[in-house]
Amino acid sequence: MPLQLHNTLTQRVEPFHPLSDNTVKMYTCGPTVYDFAHIGNFRTFVFYDLLRRWLRASGFQLNHVMNITDVDDKIIRNAVAQGKSLRDYTDNFTQAFLDDCGTLRLERPEHIVRATDHINEMAESIAKLEADGFTYRSDGSVYFRIAKFAEYGKLSHNDFSGMVAGARVDVDEYEKADARDFALWKAPKEGEPNWETCIGPGRPGWHIECSVMAYHYLGATLDLHAGGVDLIFPHHENEIAQSEALTGKPFATFWVHSEFLLVDGQKMSKSLGNFYTLRDLFGRGFTPESVRYLLASVPYRKGLNFTFDGLTSAKTAIDRLRNFKLRLETAKLADGLNEELEAKANTAHLNFRAGMDDDLNTAEALGAVFEFLRDANVALDAGTFAEGNRARALELMVLFDSVFEVLTPSEAAGAISADDVETLIAARTAAKKSRDFARADQLRNELLEKGVILEDTKDGVRWKRK
Ligand code: AMP
Ligand code: ZN
Repeated sequence: MPLQLHNTLTQRVEPFHPLSDNTVKMYTCGPTVYDFAHIGNFRTFVFYDLLRRWLRASGFQLNHVMNITDVDDKIIRNAVAQGKSLRDYTDNFTQAFLDDCGTLRLERPEHIVRATDHINEMAESIAKLEADGFTYRSDGSVYFRIAKFAEYGKLSHNDFSGMVAGARVDVDEYEKADARDFALWKAPKEGEPNWETCIGPGRPGWHIECSVMAYHYLGATLDLHAGGVDLIFPHHENEIAQSEALTGKPFATFWVHSEFLLVDGQKMSKSLGNFYTLRDLFGRGFTPESVRYLLASVPYRKGLNFTFDGLTSAKTAIDRLRNFKLRLETAKLADGLNEELEAKANTAHLNFRAGMDDDLNTAEALGAVFEFLRDANVALDAGTFAEGNRARALELMVLFDSVFEVLTPSEAAGAISADDVETLIAARTAAKKSRDFARADQLRNELLEKGVILEDTKDGVRWKRK
């Protein structure tokens, strides 16, 4: 069964394939860089990463664009309050965001693009919409007339036929009941940055940036557009209206949306104050891998309730997986092949792939790995895991880590390198051989202080980070 994804547009799980060639033209809505991103935001960005990885594993190539929203009401308010230019203000948070993405091992989209680098194109697109009668002006601002776009509501599956024509809204984010004509271009205001363009001075609304940058980098029709569920309305509905009014072609064939990270049943968000940044969690001793695992382990269309217990369980799961891999790598095994176990390894490979193909069901994929891990550990304990079984079992760990990528520990700043650990272990082994047990103990303690735990097994010394 090929990869299937839930399409918000059709409300069905459907086989995914790009329209023309093998390259997926993909657009995902990026962060608004007015502050540090929180781990609720990162649930969505981890989802983009899983999507990328599994599209590639499915044989596709990617042309993926993600925007950085670096002009909006909140950014302007904060930059003005701090007496900074928009660029100076947003540069800091853009860099922090990219650093966090790196820490969480998120693959880089092929293009990361800033809204303020495309202002003239936005103005030109708005001029075209004006010429085609989709807009009207009021007090120097330009609004999109949603009554002119017959299919308005097709993504969020809302019937807006009873809406008040001509009612308009100036803020970028608003509630469902408020389907109104939205601002494409905002008139200059005292003390706010603005741009001189072919449609006059002002600044763009939020929605137009994605339509314009998607077209610039990917053309009229995308294969896949993704975002958090909060973006379905109004943001994505408005993107569709703008883009399809501009090109007369469908904007995207697949729309994929991820559910929220919740705290006590509520969306994690800045405005509710119930959020954690990565910095908060690292300060409490959690690792990037634990955060990544937790965010990746629940299928993207299910709400995920954030708890510290959940993070601790993620750490336990990662430890089990790492220990298992180490055991697979270092165990002394009898020659031959345990056919029954090999069949189980093959089943685990198939089930992992089937889980991911099933609308990125990461829980199902993890289930396949842990089922095999249990069987294999039993066999290792019983001495029935043979040399011939090693390769396929290790391949399963490689497949697992190609998606989850948590097996290699992040080296915390100042942490001892793996090479130095090996050198100290060799010195300790030599000390033991020459019966200098005091020196051997001293080396063990030195490693322990550096966060490295040694374990003497019949197959030699194993080590792991605390
Ligand atoms: P923003 O920086 O507010 O534009 O949001 C960036 C992305 O984070 C958007 O795609 C949102 O859908 C997503 N997002 C915001 N809060 C959450 C949350 N609690 N859980 C999952 N995704 C979220
Ligand atoms: Zn967008």
